[in-house]
Amino acid sequence: MLVVNGTLITWESPNRILLNHAMLVRDGKISEIGLQDDLLKRYPDEERFDARHRYVMPGNICAHTHFYGAFSRGLAIPGAAPADFPEKLSKLWWPLDRSLGLEDVHYSALVCLVEAVRHGTTTLVDHHASPNAIEGSLEEIAMAVEEAGVRASLCYEVTDRNGAEGTRAGIRENLRHIDSVNKNANRKGQIGALFGLHASLTLSEATLDACREACPDSIGFHIHVAEHPVDEYDSLEKTGLRVIDRLNKHGMLGPQSLIIHAVHVDLREIEQLAETSTWVSHQPRSNMSNAVGLPMVESMLRAGVKVCLGNDGLSNAMWEEWKTGFLAHKLLNLDPRRLPAETMVQMAIYNNAELINSQLGIRTGVLAAGAEADFMAVEYYPFTPLTTDNLPWQMIFGFHESMITDVVVAGKVLMQNRELKTLDEEKIALEAQKLIPGVWGRFNQQFNEG
Ligand SMILES: [Zn+2]
Repeated sequence: MLVVNGTLITWESPNRILLNHAMLVRDGKISEIGLQDDLLKRYPDEERFDARHRYVMPGNICAHTHFYGAFSRGLAIPGAAPADFPEKLSKLWWPLDRSLGLEDVHYSALVCLVEAVRHGTTTLVDHHASPNAIEGSLEEIAMAVEEAGVRASLCYEVTDRNGAEGTRAGIRENLRHIDSVNKNANRKGQIGALFGLHASLTLSEATLDACREACPDSIGFHIHVAEHPVDEYDSLEKTGLRVIDRLNKHGMLGPQSLIIHAVHVDLREIEQLAETSTWVSHQPRSNMSNAVGLPMVESMLRAGVKVCLGNDGLSNAMWEEWKTGFLAHKLLNLDPRRLPAETMVQMAIYNNAELINSQLGIRTGVLAAGAEADFMAVEYYPFTPLTTDNLPWQMIFGFHESMITDVVVAGKVLMQNRELKTLDEEKIALEAQKLIPGVWGRFNQQFNEG
């Protein structure tokens, strides 16, 4: 396939914007980028993908999400509104995840993936919970990911909040998925695995030991850390250690592990994240929605921590996350110089790509010969000069997900001219609607009981 008539934004380092260039795609990879006239002459019979004078750039990557939260959209929480983050867990997320069966898990993933493809998000790192349907839940998600044609890293959140058998079942589901990733050659580079943990505050010392022992050395952990101060105080009370010290003691940090939020970590915890090359993912919309504060991401980056960008399940439209983060850190610090757009690029483009490439053993997030053919076309007509220097600001102020017209992953067209090719959005939405009375009924039942 020869991608023609597009302006290529490569996101190499340094970035390049290539006019009059075409891109040859073979066997799911970008095999060559060169002047369009030259490539058209050399490959006259190659099937053409017409980018219609749009910008062609790598697909977006989401470093942390929760497909299982999809059915919370429009759901009313009985009683008084949650007053803080711990109440949001106990009044919304935990009753919701307990209400999911395997089919609900499958469809909650599919509705998220429809949105991901529409919004050019081609690779996602998911963190899953469905305490009453643990066994096989990651396979339901993996099948949805395959159907959509995107890439994803999956894990099941181990937690002690559903009793000892729930803890054990969570560990087993992570191991089952890790085994399936290792054995399933068809999914190589498409589906990866981390070992999921909820958060320090719902995990005992014995459970952390059991997870460390069960998890293969080649697989990292994926855990929420210090989203709210209660996580730090719980850890101090249980062990005398702050959360990152505690995870370090259990051998759970390192270049494969991914820490989520890190809003309330202290300076020594940040140092340890840098020293161990542990990844951190930042979710500004979630932090604002939960009113938990914002992490010191600029200081973390300066300290050498690899900070990425995720969405925590708040819609798979990553530029919304860019814009929110860009604004939120300025307001928080009462300083318009904070978190400039190029810092957002460092997190969302370069660090996200490095994270996913290390997890899936691929090269995505860049347009270059040898990289995966994962890209999108963006219908953007700049009315000021667009350069590599000002592109991050053009994106923050000018790019919208509605401008994304085409999405390709591994050389396969997932959306062309805004028409989805792998997923039937209307059918998936109708099927999801059929499941909602059951899910919301089981959700509400828990409030009636207790
Ligand atoms: Zn999360």
